[in-house]
Amino acid sequence: MARQKQNRGACAFCGKDYTRAGMKKHLAACPDRKKAIQKADASKRKSQPLYHLVVYDACDKNNYWLHLEMNGSAELEDLDRYLRAIWLECCGHMSTFFAGKAAYRDPELERDEKAGDVFSETAELLHIYDFGTSSETMVEVADVREGRPLAKHPIALMARNHPPEYPCMECDKPARYLCMECQIEEDETGLLCEEDAKDHPHDEYGPLMPMVNSPRMGMCGYDGPAEPPY
Ligand SMILES: [Zn+2]
Ligand SMILES: [Zn+2]
Ligand SMILES: [Zn+2]
Ligand SMILES: [Zn+2]
Repeated sequence: MARQKQNRGACAFCGKDYTRAGMKKHLAACPDRKKAIQKADASKRKSQPLYHLVVYDACDKNNYWLHLEMNGSAELEDLDRYLRAIWLECCGHMSTFFAGKAAYRDPELERDEKAGDVFSETAELLHIYDFGTSSETMVEVADVREGRPLAKHPIALMARNHPPEYPCMECDKPARYLCMECQIEEDETGLLCEEDAKDHPHDEYGPLMPMVNSPRMGMCGYDGPAEPPY
């Protein structure tokens, strides 16, 4: 897709908007996050290393990104499940984590490895979902703190990008739908605004797809829901 300005997203604690990089600085200082941490530290959950992960789509890292906090005791399996729910799952393809930035060259990791063990060896992971029409996701450790998890789940969502604004291929208004036939057969973006979607003639690849907040949109027919699992 065309080059875009840095897409912003909202802090889950205070609701303020930042870019992916700006959010990293913000989360380290956010007063509402500090309060949430104090509250969690008064809970009975088990104290452990907690990893601040910056997650982004390898092809479109300024548009699609997440800031997560992962428990040291959680397994890579938990992170895989999270990424599938929020971004990736279309039809149950295989997925693998590699330590480092390169698939095949860097070691492949076992799904039952714990975050605490993995991230004491490497600060970067590459996740590949689907070895046909691949989605590649980068995971970087931004920070680590010792404390009690923010919730009972293995992973907490601290920030997520807003849906990127793409222009309609007919009129440049914000696109709301995607036509797979235009994309595959006509070499167009296939992006359509509300108005232009109404009388669009194509249906060979099924009805127009409402846009979803995921870097996998349209790949292998992915059409969402792109919601976090918890
Ligand atoms: Zn905040
Ligand atoms: Zn698929
Ligand atoms: Zn339009
Ligand atoms: Zn079309």
